[in-house]
Amino acid sequence: VIITTKIADVRAHRQRERDMSWGFVPTMGYLHAGHLSLVEKARADNERTAVSIYVNPTQFGPQEDFGAYPRAPEQDLAMLEKAGVHLVFTPGDSTIYPPGFQTTISLRQVSRPLEGASRPGHFDGVATVVAKLFNIVQPDRAYFGQKDAQQVVVLRRMVTDLNFPLDVVVCPTVRESDGLALSSRNAYLSAKERQASTVLYRALKAAEDAFYAGERQADSLRALMSGVVGAESLARLDYVSVAHPDTLVELEVVAEKALLSLAVFFGRTRLIDNVLIDVRNRSR
Ligand code: AMP
Repeated sequence: VIITTKIADVRAHRQRERDMSWGFVPTMGYLHAGHLSLVEKARADNERTAVSIYVNPTQFGPQEDFGAYPRAPEQDLAMLEKAGVHLVFTPGDSTIYPPGFQTTISLRQVSRPLEGASRPGHFDGVATVVAKLFNIVQPDRAYFGQKDAQQVVVLRRMVTDLNFPLDVVVCPTVRESDGLALSSRNAYLSAKERQASTVLYRALKAAEDAFYAGERQADSLRALMSGVVGAESLARLDYVSVAHPDTLVELEVVAEKALLSLAVFFGRTRLIDNVLIDVRNRSR
């Protein structure tokens, strides 16, 4: 495995193996089985796999957890080596944002609701850094988790709008056995909060079950999710949503499909989760 902090090294290696197909998995490190599922899919689909580890400061708000975000570089590199990754890019801030940097990629609509409303500027930071990483790595395919559903919508839109010559591949959310979606931020939870954190998946399941039992009113599904979260004393609801999976516009009625999503605080820890529902998948 080649591990480098330098853009020139990534470019040289990519150029040397330009005839290989390259898969790319951008991450913020503190890797877990969710990240590794993306790496495995990238390895299965491509001859070469690159992973970036970069905690991007511009996608964190001023009151958010950039400084506290968990980091374990040695462990991450050991995991990636074991997973058979060919190239790991671990840039520093001055490599990604050299003096004079002043360009932002901003999506007008899909970045506004949900995470964008709770975290102003978040998706400008994500879109800009991912565009830069795409230009540096020049992958044939890039892999993202359904866990961050709005991120997928935003990045798909960006790839189309800006003609990036790559395919976006979305991988299913990897969960703990009790339903909690794996996240680097789960490390912040106390033992009691960890128990309470299953409330996200329980809320989504309650709404999903109601949908497959025939409930089509989005407000009823939202109320179900809010009710489940409201019953958990350690949880504080940020938002619940029943939205169109592609536009992220809130629905009144679920005619065909919807993205159920929510964000919940446990103390200062903020967790998100989602599921897709679709009338065509009746049996669950
Ligand atoms: P992060 O390091 O949190 O920026 O995540 C890097 C990539 O891993 C993103 O595409 C995430 O959506 C994806 N990811 C994070 N957690 C999970 C999970 N539990 N299951 C699947 N993908 C995930």
